[in-house]
Amino acid sequence: MSLDLSSARIAFLGLGKMGLPMASRLVAAGWTVTGFDPSPAAREAFAATGGAAASSAREAAEQAALVVTMLPDGKTVRAALTGPEGVAGRLAPGAIVVDMSSSAPVGTRELAQELADAGIVLLDAPVSGGVRRAVDGTLAIMVGGDKIAAATVRPLLERLGTAIFETGPIGSGHAMKALNNYVSAAGLTAACEALRIGERFGLDPELMTDILNVSTGRNNATDVKLKPYVIPKSFTSGFTMALMAKDLRTADDLALHEGIPAPLSRTIAALWQRALEELGTEADHTAIDMYLANLPVPARE
Ligand code: NAD
Repeated sequence: MSLDLSSARIAFLGLGKMGLPMASRLVAAGWTVTGFDPSPAAREAFAATGGAAASSAREAAEQAALVVTMLPDGKTVRAALTGPEGVAGRLAPGAIVVDMSSSAPVGTRELAQELADAGIVLLDAPVSGGVRRAVDGTLAIMVGGDKIAAATVRPLLERLGTAIFETGPIGSGHAMKALNNYVSAAGLTAACEALRIGERFGLDPELMTDILNVSTGRNNATDVKLKPYVIPKSFTSGFTMALMAKDLRTADDLALHEGIPAPLSRTIAALWQRALEELGTEADHTAIDMYLANLPVPARE
């Protein structure tokens, strides 16, 4: 791999809730980063942190040796790279693309092959930890793909995360990320249901959370979501229901693709899809609690 990361021109596509703090950390670390997002507000926010904001993805990617994508999903990543406005043709020879979005793993494999034909190496490096850990640079990062390319970009990933795992071949990081979010959403759904049942019976939700957190029911939702976002009904975690529902579809599609029976995955994916249709694309994922609260009460058998 001929790429010299220390002097590489980096294009960062997607300056949203996660991409903005991540790209800003790279700027603060001294890299030359040109960012693009169709949202003028996102571009302005990036420029305010000292980054260069381009007026198109192509401008951002002109002669870039490294492209980082932090986009809503794999379809958007594919369009950004290979679509009619795609940047693949603008990159320096031997460029590496690091897709840090939560994309679908089978699509990632296919995209990697297409990019390889154009002399571009694709790595998948999705993250977990949410906006707070993106700001702090303490994300968990799951890296799939070529080991030499992964080693080349490792110093950059170390500015973004503190738990970096190489998960195997291309797409394996995206598979791991979707499966993580399936487990995370299942835990949040169960915790919200338990709080509602307990509260109706007369238990205090704050006390329930304290007990769950020192008992075997503890999970990420009980730890970091119930008290700030669910119990006060603020629903402001910074991760939308639309993105979680997408990740749940991805996990369920993967189960089908691999021929693995996964009835709970199927149930959770369908439940979150209905919640998304009811609450709309702007809803926060912790608002699953609101959706559960408004479900009709089932008749007792
Ligand atoms: P977001 O919607 O806030 O940001 C996505 C950004 O991409 C938007 O600003 C949008 O304008 C931009 N965009 C869309 N098309 C583009 C294009 N062609 N070129 C450049 N920019 C484009 O979403 P987010 O919460 O930042 O999530 C980004 C990715 O990270 C998703 O895949 C999500 O599943 C994943 N993720 C999010 C969180 C979280 O807590 N928010 C945590 C882990 C992973």
